Amino acid sequence: MEEAVSEPKKRIGIQNLDDDWDCVVIGAGPAGTMAARQAAMRGLKTLIVDRKTFPREKVCGACVNRRALTLLDQVGLGHVVHNCRGIPFDRIQLRCPSGHASLPLSRGFAVSRATLDDALVEAAVSEGATFVSDTMAQILPTEHPAGDRGANQRSVKLIENHSDCTKPHSRTVRCQIVIAADGLGHPSLQRLPDFHDKVARSSRIGVGTIVEHGANVLREGSIGMAVGRDGYVGMVRISHNRLNVAACLDVTRLRDVGHPGVVVADILQRAGFADFGAADHTWKGTIQLSRSTNTVASQGILVVGDAAGYVEPFTGEGIAWALAGGVAVGDCAASGAHVNQMTAEQIWKREWRQLVARRQKWCRRLAVLLRHPTAVSVAIYAASTFPFLANRIIASLDSPALELQATTS
Ligand SMILES: Cc1cc2nc3c(=O)[nH]c(=O)nc-3n(C[C@H](O)[C@H](O)[C@H](O)COP(=O)(O)OP(=O)(O)OC[C@H]3O[C@@H](n4cnc5c(N)ncnc54)[C@H](O)[C@@H]3O)c2cc1C
Repeated sequence: MEEAVSEPKKRIGIQNLDDDWDCVVIGAGPAGTMAARQAAMRGLKTLIVDRKTFPREKVCGACVNRRALTLLDQVGLGHVVHNCRGIPFDRIQLRCPSGHASLPLSRGFAVSRATLDDALVEAAVSEGATFVSDTMAQILPTEHPAGDRGANQRSVKLIENHSDCTKPHSRTVRCQIVIAADGLGHPSLQRLPDFHDKVARSSRIGVGTIVEHGANVLREGSIGMAVGRDGYVGMVRISHNRLNVAACLDVTRLRDVGHPGVVVADILQRAGFADFGAADHTWKGTIQLSRSTNTVASQGILVVGDAAGYVEPFTGEGIAWALAGGVAVGDCAASGAHVNQMTAEQIWKREWRQLVARRQKWCRRLAVLLRHPTAVSVAIYAASTFPFLANRIIASLDSPALELQATTS
């Protein structure tokens, strides 16, 4: 069974868009697509914008865990991962230089992000949202003070970035609510003083590649995870032939060595995994990962997904957080857009705390542990010696106990 292949999306030019919208969503990852779908389903005239050409790949471990699958099911999108021909996994092979453990996982699916995100865009469009790709969005500062009725409208500048035109077209649209789901560092908010992005000093960066004909590196049904002093590397098969590789690497080490593939090859080899020729591959990278924003809502702007803060993705929860956040923020936008914007902001701050903030604290602690090779060795030794302990921790990570009820009530 091969991975589903999507055709490049037909573009809608920004010149054909209306001037006024109820809701503009920036970013078509899991958070933005779910937010746009939910807002459109709740009757809002919704525009979703992404700067990339779709379908697009993205640096990610590509593992959709049980929590994410349950959520998709709950909102009527249970078929999406199946239609994307996701490859099931139910085990993790955890290795570090001094030991290894093989642990069972709740069944999840590995899916290429190009295919998954494209399918989620389709789901939003089929509920009535308008999708524009190849377009960078920037939220413009408002001239109205907080609380002023005039502040109930936001302006978003759209700049087309396709290669066939030398001077990009741009225009500005207006809306009641903007949802910033634009991923790490929330680039669309750069011009707004209300939103500061804080980066942890020890933050690592993410890198990723897809290995064609990488089938012999890892058995189907398993995630391979190598942990070393300079970071960790996750591998999973996203089709019978293709291996998705994503890693979080120490910035200083990367600067010294100069090539992510060399650092990845070293981590894999020391942990006892076969190298797939990492140094010869082309790698995509992210900005630093461990970051948080001082607020997730202000004056008609709601921030969600990685844009609202992220930590190292060792536990592979990011997609689940983004999906859950997307549904909840779409509901908030619908509850507030026509009545009272402040309500939408207040609701979203509360929802976000309940949904994500607590779990992020847990992941932050784990991120600190991952920087200490001795602690990692002890944890892997404990996991292989007392598997019931490891199983309980894993079960709590991807438990389907979904927080959605809290958000839709
Ligand atoms: C190395 C690594 C491995 C990971 N592994 C996993 C895993 O196995 N499982 C898991 O669940 N999670 C994993 N994650 C986390 C997961 O990738 C993210 O949490 C998830 O993608 C967040 O979704 P999002 O919708 O918030 O943002 P994204 O998926 O980042 O989407 C943001 C979108 O916004 C667009 N955009 C940005 N700026 C603008 C702009 N100004 N205008 C218009 N569009 C814009 C981008 O093009 C992008 O499409 C991993 C992350 C990393 C770095």
